[in-house]
Amino acid sequence: MKIYDIAVVGAGPAGCMAAIRGSQMGKKVIILERNNTIGRKLLLTANGRCNITNTSTIDVFLEKFGKQGSFYRDVFNQFSNHDLQNFFKNNGLELKEESEGRLFPVTEKSKSVIDVLLNVLEEYKVEIVYNYRLEHLQKASKIFKLTSTKNEPITAYHVVIATGGVSYGFTGSTGDGLRISELLGHQITDLKPGGVPLCVREEWVHNLKGVTLENAGLSIGYGGKKIYLPRGNLLLTHFGVSGPVILDSSNKIVELMDEHGDLKLYIDFIPELNSEAMRVRLMEDFQKHSKKSLRTYLKYHIPNSMIDPLLHILSINPTKKLNQITKKERMVLQETLKALPLTLNGHLPMDKAMVTCGGVSKKDINPQTMESKLIGGLFFAGEIIAGCGGRGGYNLQQAFSTGYVAGNSA
Ligand SMILES: Cc1cc2nc3c(=O)[nH]c(=O)nc-3n(C[C@H](O)[C@H](O)[C@H](O)COP(=O)(O)OP(=O)(O)OC[C@H]3O[C@@H](n4cnc5c(N)ncnc54)[C@H](O)[C@@H]3O)c2cc1C
Repeated sequence: MKIYDIAVVGAGPAGCMAAIRGSQMGKKVIILERNNTIGRKLLLTANGRCNITNTSTIDVFLEKFGKQGSFYRDVFNQFSNHDLQNFFKNNGLELKEESEGRLFPVTEKSKSVIDVLLNVLEEYKVEIVYNYRLEHLQKASKIFKLTSTKNEPITAYHVVIATGGVSYGFTGSTGDGLRISELLGHQITDLKPGGVPLCVREEWVHNLKGVTLENAGLSIGYGGKKIYLPRGNLLLTHFGVSGPVILDSSNKIVELMDEHGDLKLYIDFIPELNSEAMRVRLMEDFQKHSKKSLRTYLKYHIPNSMIDPLLHILSINPTKKLNQITKKERMVLQETLKALPLTLNGHLPMDKAMVTCGGVSKKDINPQTMESKLIGGLFFAGEIIAGCGGRGGYNLQQAFSTGYVAGNSA
């Protein structure tokens, strides 16, 4: 019976890196992948451009993984963003920096990242079995038996589970590894969507799909409290809102929704002015442009397509000249431009989320090695581990770093 040193389940970024590192350490490694190719999700990242990592410091990386981010301190120290950059550079692929420290392959193609991984896997003679969907995993007398109804069983001394989360299921990540890990006694935390667009109740928003509000100030209202989100571009969609700020903050917003139900999203169209400065500005403008219609004036502040729906909500006749607007109407306008309230009443389903927040509990994993605390010789890597990072290349770095550490330790 052939017994591999390491069997890696899943050929996403985490599994590929685990297999590469295991082989570099002189081990006999096999990867089992249910698709007929590696990295199907990786191919889709950043619209096919692959935001592979970020130039941030380790502290920022840890922050991006929320409350339990410090779990990754050892992992990012063992294989950092610089190590990842060097790995690709040494294998012929340079990375380039874009805004907010985000790094992309210079080719702007995820395919180049996949090609490098394939070349290195081949160089280190990692065996890859495609169309192999792991169904069961057992351990007896220090040897793991991996089985699938369609394929021959495989045996190995160590196993790395890198089967990803449960979003974008068509890429192969449907939660198999989570079910298998749970059967082996691991705790699986609540699976919540990360980086997910949000639904808005007000239908007029849906009709404005495709409109972007640039550099909008946003805040969330719940239970008498308000939290402010960073300024950014807000994209209106046929179901609600998306865009960088929403995707970046959706983990937190979804948590608040679970706790408080529907939430308020307040849009500040002119975040650079506070309420008082806004009041003065409107008074001055209304005097200066007194003969202009309200509709024309509002073009200075909001996209054209939003003017009529907004004035309809406010019940102000858009053809009115500024000198015909009453003080009360001007005050309502001022309040609305500073905090237009929308109702957030849900989010798109898990399958449309960029990442799965939730998975094998970190409590069951040794942070120095990625080894299970329950079953010796079993390791976890990538998105299957509970929690998720913000956008900006943090999740792929987590996949590569945990993969490296799991492969190294196995
Ligand atoms: C649209 C989109 C864009 C994204 N953009 C970015 C980005 O630009 N930057 C960033 O940092 N992150 C991005 N992400 C997140 C990133 O893609 C994931 O965090 C990353 O792919 C996780 O890697 P992984 O190896 O853990 O899992 P995956 O990439 O999901 O790989 C898991 C692999 O396991 C295989 N598998 C599953 N079950 C089995 C089984 N039973 N047997 C055998 N094989 C199995 C799957 O087929 C798959 O190949 C994006 C995600 C999406 C959906």
